[in-house]
Amino acid sequence: MRKIELPENVKYIINKLEAAGYEAYAVGGCVRDSMLGRVPEDWDITTSAKPEEVKEIFRKTIDTGIQHGTVTVLMPGCVGYEVTTYRIDGEYLDGRHPSEVTFTPSLHEDLARRDFTINAMAVNDRTGVVDDFCGLSDMEARVIRAVGDPRQRFTEDALRMLRALRFSAQLDFEIDKDTYEAVKELAPNLVHVSKERINVELTKLLMSDHPEVIALVSDSGLSGYISDHFDDAFDVSNEMAAPYPDIRQWIPKGIPNIKYLRWGTFLRAVPEEAKTILKELKMDNDTIHKAQIIAGLFSEDLPESVYEVRKTLSVIGFDTYYAFLEADACINRQFTGDDAMKRLERIKVTKSHVDAVRDAGDCISLGDLAVTGADLMELGIPKGPEIGMVLHKLLDEVLKVPSRNKKEVLLTLAK
Ligand code: ATP
Ligand code: MG
Repeated sequence: MRKIELPENVKYIINKLEAAGYEAYAVGGCVRDSMLGRVPEDWDITTSAKPEEVKEIFRKTIDTGIQHGTVTVLMPGCVGYEVTTYRIDGEYLDGRHPSEVTFTPSLHEDLARRDFTINAMAVNDRTGVVDDFCGLSDMEARVIRAVGDPRQRFTEDALRMLRALRFSAQLDFEIDKDTYEAVKELAPNLVHVSKERINVELTKLLMSDHPEVIALVSDSGLSGYISDHFDDAFDVSNEMAAPYPDIRQWIPKGIPNIKYLRWGTFLRAVPEEAKTILKELKMDNDTIHKAQIIAGLFSEDLPESVYEVRKTLSVIGFDTYYAFLEADACINRQFTGDDAMKRLERIKVTKSHVDAVRDAGDCISLGDLAVTGADLMELGIPKGPEIGMVLHKLLDEVLKVPSRNKKEVLLTLAK
């Protein structure tokens, strides 16, 4: 484990709070990550000062979640640090939000409300590391363990179950046996959790270094409570079953960590349902669109001609197509059979076609077409859907023969 070097801004905030007579520590994810030699995404500070007191000490603050005790302190350059008052979370009546939060003068109580032992450590320069729940030894043993009784903790907030899987994937840690048993028992409670929060955790899991941990979502029984068709994504007991005796191979190593690509690859057994599933998880439209296309491409034959390659590119663009080809190659490299070898060969050929189209600068979209809707209207084609139809037809001509992308040629064709 490394010694934690607090960033200057964090030291400054902690010192100021201490000088005013309060306690203050860096806490949670930032302590965990810096001990593991990972770069923390953000530094959270926990303090005995009440929000109003924090606001009096610092010149620039934002009321981020004042009812939960959180104030953002703005440092020069508009960098914000969340400073949260020590608190005990009340009962989670709906399994979602604590019904109330109570401020407490005790750091120990604040650490006790946190989800996992590795997330329940605090540190400052005066005291060093405060580790009341043996987070350090769990970190050394590479274990995700709930703070306190896992059954109680997952009943309070069911999202923690998915967080356990997510941290396991990000850190390559095992989930402690009893904690995992509790996940299996309480999986149905996940229905109470908002889809947005579920999406955040699943996306972090899929984007991690160990996306194969997604298999635990099925193994634990959580998948049935995520969305109607989610569990079908793991049902590879169709023709794909043979090469997948172990569902952990479903997402192999090396798939580039692009959000739509990881999701599309994961959902490839259910291309028809991909859109519904992602919509239900309140995914952004761009990701839904691309992931759905990707999910479908795996079971399609690869294009035979450069024209077909251009056609595909006109729908999904270069980046998405390159990403897909890379993922498809990763999957097929897992196998040694004839089909996999053939597919890998076709992927190579397709990729060289894509390279050629890119290097030639061929037109592959309406935006690159040498004529516009206005040009067509001048020809007398009435404003409306017909314009779009003609433009698409012209694009198709250009996809067949790129040299046709000249205004005179296209206008003649349009006539
Ligand atoms: P990340 O790198 O994803 O930000 P993190 O550990 O910082 O990981 P956050 O969601 O930012 O996770 O939460 C910060 C801290 O708050 C956690 O480390 C943990 O101590 C606590 N925490 C967050 N969510 C929960 C929860 N649902 N139940 C209990 N404690 C939580
Ligand atoms: Mg965080």
